[in-house]
Amino acid sequence: MSDFGTFFLPGPTEVRREVLEAMLAPMLPHRGAAFEALFARLQQGLRPIFRSARPVYVSSSSATGLMEAAIRCAAPGPILSLVNGAFSERFANIAVACGRDTHVIGGDWHQPVPLEAVERALRDRHYAALTVVHSETSTGTLTSLPAVTALAHQHDTAVLVDSVTGLGGVPVETDAWELDFVFTGSQKALALPPGLAFGVASTRFLEQAATATARGLYFDLVEYEEFVHKNQTPSTPAISLLYATAVQGEHIARETIDARWARHAAMAEMTHDWVRQLREDTGAPFCVYAPEHARSGTVTAVALPDALKGDDVVKGVAKRGFVIGGGYGKLKRSTFRIGHMGDHTPDRLARCLEATADTIRELLK
Ligand SMILES: *Cc1c(COP(=O)(O)O)cnc(C)c1O
Repeated sequence: MSDFGTFFLPGPTEVRREVLEAMLAPMLPHRGAAFEALFARLQQGLRPIFRSARPVYVSSSSATGLMEAAIRCAAPGPILSLVNGAFSERFANIAVACGRDTHVIGGDWHQPVPLEAVERALRDRHYAALTVVHSETSTGTLTSLPAVTALAHQHDTAVLVDSVTGLGGVPVETDAWELDFVFTGSQKALALPPGLAFGVASTRFLEQAATATARGLYFDLVEYEEFVHKNQTPSTPAISLLYATAVQGEHIARETIDARWARHAAMAEMTHDWVRQLREDTGAPFCVYAPEHARSGTVTAVALPDALKGDDVVKGVAKRGFVIGGGYGKLKRSTFRIGHMGDHTPDRLARCLEATADTIRELLK
């Protein structure tokens, strides 16, 4: 474990040795009592993370699979997509690719889509569902889910939530906030290897899903619901990753989800303070890309002065033994990103930030 704490990519995130070693367990049949016991163990770990009494679907796909499931299983009718970054744009593109009549609002990457714009759109026309990204990994912006959900439900619109870099890192209250479908991927704040996605659907959403006409097969949530009650999955799951998830679920339960959220909040604050310090020390206009009132607890995009390139910062930090993320999409050149999520600690994050500051001072010379 002494080498843990060098890999600060905003996904995949660093995985602890104990979790990696869990995957060495031998195979077992995926129909049978031993598997069902394993799956039940997984549920015990996952439900508190989602703050839900509902079962958690386990998809052997990356998170994009459950983005597609969300769209395919939404009731017939148009989709409203809230776009404020690369991943929310992807969600809208998936709706289009699945043949849905899709209306996009927002487009400004600097902030969550304003509630007034959401309300206006919902008043204009009835939408079966809206798509929203909780924590925009491309910008580090956090959207307030209770506000969006309350508005959507006033207009009888289901809320499909990508909380891929939210769940397990920042507060998500699936049941209390009445989220219709919310999902994450294994390789972000849950600090598991890539390859699984987890999601929870409300009973209301499932009833609507039963009326969806093009659910397809692999991502049919109605099937998932049927199997989850038997502690099974519709097709052969990535069994080794399930072993890892069981172990990590127990680790998170010991930490407690509240303590995990608090640790992430502390790391985010530390990173924001560090950016302010960097600006003061260098006199150059470094800043946190996301607005102060809407910052994610798991990832920070740092906007660079024109003289610096995101890639050069990433390369310099790598020479010092740490991995951080480059800018994403149209922010590739003008930002870099630090993933302060998963099982990282403020101590090791401080060392990564120190290496990043050293790199920047050298590049500015
Ligand atoms: C990483 C990420 C995804 C896509 O996840 P994959 O596991 O690569 O399919 C979707 N949305 C957000 C916000 C993400 O951070």
